[in-house]
Amino acid sequence: SKTNESLMQRRHNAVARGVSQIHPIAVQRAENATVWDVEGRQYIDFAGGIAVLNTGHRHPKVMDAVRRQLDQFTHTCFQVLAYEPYIALCERLNEKVPGDFAKKTLLVTTGSEALENAVKIARAATGRAGVIAFTGAYHGRTMMTLSMTGKVVPYSAGMGLMPGGVYRAQFPCPLHGVSDDDAIASIERIFKNDAQPQDIAAIVIEPVQGEGGFYVASPAFMQRLRALCDQHGIMLVADEVQTGAGRTGTFFAMEQMGVAADLTTFAKSIAGGFPVAGVCGRAEVMDAIAPGGLGGTYAGSPLACAAALAVMEVFEEENLLARSRTVGEILTGRLKALAADDKRIGDVRGLGAMVACELFTADGAPDADLTGRIVAAARDKGLILLSCGQYGNVIRILVPLTATDVELHAGMDIIAACFAEL
Ligand code: PMP
Repeated sequence: SKTNESLMQRRHNAVARGVSQIHPIAVQRAENATVWDVEGRQYIDFAGGIAVLNTGHRHPKVMDAVRRQLDQFTHTCFQVLAYEPYIALCERLNEKVPGDFAKKTLLVTTGSEALENAVKIARAATGRAGVIAFTGAYHGRTMMTLSMTGKVVPYSAGMGLMPGGVYRAQFPCPLHGVSDDDAIASIERIFKNDAQPQDIAAIVIEPVQGEGGFYVASPAFMQRLRALCDQHGIMLVADEVQTGAGRTGTFFAMEQMGVAADLTTFAKSIAGGFPVAGVCGRAEVMDAIAPGGLGGTYAGSPLACAAALAVMEVFEEENLLARSRTVGEILTGRLKALAADDKRIGDVRGLGAMVACELFTADGAPDADLTGRIVAAARDKGLILLSCGQYGNVIRILVPLTATDVELHAGMDIIAACFAEL
């Protein structure tokens, strides 16, 4: 019979080395916040497929919607023959994405593609080519998004220079010595040293950095960014690929920032485990690209659109936005209690259920080694965790919002046991 080890050996031989492996485990099946490996071992899932499973593995309503779609048709290519689930999903997103203006939506397949297209749309709408992105940003692994992603190793190392015209501003992060003022000054510095604002099409920001370490931008900073964009005719792009679909306690994190982006990217949890992503924004901006300039063969797959529509119903029926805030309080409460007795946990933070803690050595250096050991020890005790952060010293939690309190506490008990042992 198959073992994790035998599958890891086959994987090693058959799969390109650049595709890394966080946990040496092969999954057999999954249900809500639980996964079982091929050896029958059970784990609590605090990773959620990297922010894809806010409604859990195989939510029954999502499964039903996909099954119904499966029995009708699975593919036409929307540009060839249209179908209602694509249209209905765009209508729903036009309502849900923050911004008190007429909106239109484009569907694609992955978060990276959504970011690529947001840049294309901003370029077409402004007639400019420059982009400002932030330190620690993660926007994807395609060529343009690699320019925007603020981490060379491992994402673009060995691949040569990525497309030009991307300028790096500092993401505000007081914990590591970057104030809101410093971050704004870094943009002014770009305008002075690198590119005049009239050449910048977009400023792209994650309202809460995901891969970069779960740092929350302050509403005050977002408002200053908005003002800067308005002053210079720059498109503000909110990358809500990781923060969206209810993770932060509102359906989109920008709802808590007091200003709206011109363009919003979404993906991941929007379709509860099926691949759909997209860009939603000001109707006239979205329409800057002529027919034929946007789309893709699988873009807005009917199965994924049906899943996404079901996800939105589940959010309403199960009151998952309120649940997201409660999950956040439970996790943050447990982590803060741990941090009170353990100086290695230097910070506990988050927005809604997007929760993390950051680990430091006794002399205050980021402790990536301890972080890695906690993640491995937790796995051995039956909990799937993820780390993140520019220094690899952040433990992040992306548990399904549909997990029970018992599961949340069982997972936190494992984390507590790991800190006690290591
Ligand atoms: N933007 C953000 C904020 C993300 O977290 C990610 C994925 N981690 C992406 C873009 C890229 O999405 P994908 O992996 O679906 O291309």
